[in-house]
Amino acid sequence: MKKIVMKFGGTSIASGKNIRHVARLIADHVSQGYRIVTVVSALEGITDKLIEVAKQARNGNSNYIHEFKQKLLKEHLVVAKEAIQKERLQQEIEQILKTLVDELEKVLIGIVYVGELTSKSKDYVLSFGERLSAPIVMGALRDLELNAKYYTGGEIGIVTDSNFGEAKPLMNVTKHQVKEKIEPLLEKNIIPIVTGYIAATQDGETTTLGRGGSDYTTTIIGSALTATEVWIWTDVDGLMTSDPKIVPTAKMLPELSFKEATEMTIFGAKAMHPRALEPAMEESIPVRIRNVFDPENSGTLIVEKQKTRIGEAVKAITLVKEVALVNVSGAGMVGSPGTAAKVFDVIGRDNINVLMISQSVSEANISFVIQRSLLEKAVSTLEIALLGRGLIREVTAEDDVCVVAVVGAGMKGTPGVASRLFTAVARKGINIRMIAQGSSELNISCVVKETDGEKAVQAIHEEFKLQN
Ligand code: ADP
Ligand code: ASP
Ligand code: MG
Repeated sequence: MKKIVMKFGGTSIASGKNIRHVARLIADHVSQGYRIVTVVSALEGITDKLIEVAKQARNGNSNYIHEFKQKLLKEHLVVAKEAIQKERLQQEIEQILKTLVDELEKVLIGIVYVGELTSKSKDYVLSFGERLSAPIVMGALRDLELNAKYYTGGEIGIVTDSNFGEAKPLMNVTKHQVKEKIEPLLEKNIIPIVTGYIAATQDGETTTLGRGGSDYTTTIIGSALTATEVWIWTDVDGLMTSDPKIVPTAKMLPELSFKEATEMTIFGAKAMHPRALEPAMEESIPVRIRNVFDPENSGTLIVEKQKTRIGEAVKAITLVKEVALVNVSGAGMVGSPGTAAKVFDVIGRDNINVLMISQSVSEANISFVIQRSLLEKAVSTLEIALLGRGLIREVTAEDDVCVVAVVGAGMKGTPGVASRLFTAVARKGINIRMIAQGSSELNISCVVKETDGEKAVQAIHEEFKLQN
């Protein structure tokens, strides 16, 4: 029997009508004999709103909290009412939503009193997005006489380290627990609805896996169950040659290798969690990205073996926003082995992930790109650790930049890709701040001003004739 773990993102469940559509889609597959585990994100935009209310709570703004609570409850009640038709069921779900929102309010008031927002309490606040959407999806399935039950990531057995905000799953124990919990449910024909994005430490404290984490939850569960396939339902046809919101003529890619798709997600495609494909890749479980509004379309299939045809060196152009460029410079670095290691050791110990690195031939300068939200932390850590020792003279940063990346397995050994890329960008009068090519030769990326990002993506997409 086919076992599919399927995920519905925030856009797929943005309204009650969409949730009813999702429930019918699940019901159709159940009637075709599939065994299904469902993972859901928060309703569209809710995670961002929770981040904002957590900040307001830290700043002591209790009026904002009260209003927020009312709006959040209303928004979910409206969606639930539209998603569920049977009155008794509607009331049951309404009660769950009210209890959850009351709990959230208490947590936020607690933050106001303490005047501090730790990464642990922030994760707890963020967990409410998915905890509120899952019961509504459960109600919509029960409305169709399906036997569904909802669980948090922690309840279903996903255990992580305590790196709140970007927690990593402890895969061995997670796989064992998830299998133990879910298989008996599937035996009893129960459809588990699991909250994406959130999990728990071994002590039961709520963690989150990082933005876009529901995709990650889905492959973690898929690998624990050795699912037949993992399906990521979303609002576009699949992984495309570029973000269709930037390049309207972008084309769907019917098949990609895990390596290529991972490179694309790391560099921003589909706002997917950068590690989301890892668990599926390790177990060779095919992943499909599909359009929830066009279920006849089989979407993008991500598999182990890449099929590269001649003349298809470049597959996709991606754009990463919200990043910053850090430059570490100083003559003391020249001919001093180990400086780069020290810089990245300091950064790594602070849990700051580096997206791109480049060092000039003179060795007097190392540049790297990190997430913009971590910029202050990175600069101050570097200054404290390295400035005093005479190795480096200066740490500077630019926070108005973005990364444009060209991805494709066929680039390996194909000369001329880089020069075409830079010529296309230069022709538009765009200045390139930094360049890097991964040693895998799966991507070439460059840093440009954020205001030039979309124009650069469009120019490269056109240069490599990726459009329809
Ligand atoms: P979900 O709510 O389903 O998780 P996301 O908003 O996280 O959806 O991701 C889907 C969006 O990703 C699409 O609407 C599209 O605009 C964007 N996107 C960016 N790059 C790509 C790409 N290369 N292929 C497909 N979608 C992309
Ligand atoms: N709700 C979370 C986010 O917005 C997780 C997800 O949607 O995948 O990042
Ligand atoms: Mg997403």
